[in-house]
Amino acid sequence: MIAARVIQRATARKLWCPGRSISSESASIDFRSDTVTQPCDDMKKAMINSPLGDDVMGEDPTVLKLESMLAEQFGMEAGLFFPTGTQSNLCGVMAHCHGRGSEVLLGANAHLCLYEHGNLSTLGGIHSRQIQERPDATLDPSTVEKMIRADDPHFPRTDVVCIENTHNVLGGVPLPKSYVDELSKVCVENELKLHIDGARIMNACVAMNVSAEDLCENVNSVSICLSKGLGSPVGSVLVGSSEVIYLARRQRKACGGGMRQAGVIAGAGIFAIENNVNRLADDHARAKVLAGVMKSAGFVIDKEPQTNLLFFGVPEGSRLTQDDVIEKASEVRVLFGGGYSGGTRCRIAMHKHITDGCVEKAGQILKDIATGF
Ligand SMILES: *Cc1c(COP(=O)(O)O)cnc(C)c1O
Repeated sequence: MIAARVIQRATARKLWCPGRSISSESASIDFRSDTVTQPCDDMKKAMINSPLGDDVMGEDPTVLKLESMLAEQFGMEAGLFFPTGTQSNLCGVMAHCHGRGSEVLLGANAHLCLYEHGNLSTLGGIHSRQIQERPDATLDPSTVEKMIRADDPHFPRTDVVCIENTHNVLGGVPLPKSYVDELSKVCVENELKLHIDGARIMNACVAMNVSAEDLCENVNSVSICLSKGLGSPVGSVLVGSSEVIYLARRQRKACGGGMRQAGVIAGAGIFAIENNVNRLADDHARAKVLAGVMKSAGFVIDKEPQTNLLFFGVPEGSRLTQDDVIEKASEVRVLFGGGYSGGTRCRIAMHKHITDGCVEKAGQILKDIATGF
């Protein structure tokens, strides 16, 4: 018998092929990701009106403005604009490492570990050593400390610790400053650098009512996605010391991330930072409302959502599988996917196109799916 994995491989080839057409039938409620948003008219206007220059020559005023805005908000010396969070994470981590044979300590469920094509190893020559997170999505600082390698030619050289805030696959969990500081202390004492994959760090700040500067006071770099809940079409920014940004800029060039008149997209990022941060609280509130409805319909919600991500399992005792729920909902244009967690959870992501009305409608549909079996 052929393993499901092999069949999946054939499907994947079709899915990612060029020229695939996308059906644009009736509007759907799209919970698949907080990356599916379209820029609003005002954001598009901001993009069109952004002054531009060649950013590889350091002459794009809009890119420079976005970089310094975020550096200031995070209390860091400098920022660097990237096309993606994946590249920003990679270049940030590489900037901290001594080179090939360096090692990074990170969570086994970190995006950097699961979803970035193993690029620390394939592109960076960096070994990643994974640590199982605790149920609250944190790494145990004493475990981290134990994992730091002795200076011995048998071992790679531990240079960096990476954490994710909010933690995506473990529930969109915002991690508090006390935890970040605790890990930072371990890093400082052992001469390691601390990098935050802050794809959704603004969600963390809003959820915990803490400033970015305060939350990241004791870290060496943060990668911030503008294209998630903040609603930009593209872009991430890495912030850190001038030295780290100097080194990351070299890595970015090597990765092909040196963009020219990039202000046309950085302008969207500035608009997003100025207009779309506070509204994240609405996404968080809607995730809680939908979780409540789904819980009453029997769906298993292990963790009350604290930010914009809601993970759930099929109702207890139900004959439904996760794929049934995903398919039945998609038949009526409510879209979401399987979360990671070993394929036993679905994930709903809130974003700026999801209104109270969408939540109400989706709640009703999910209730019907739960009771239909
Ligand atoms: C999306 C995401 C990234 C990477 O961002 P891309 O822009 O998609 O490359 C990194 N970390 C986390 C936690 C993410 O959710």
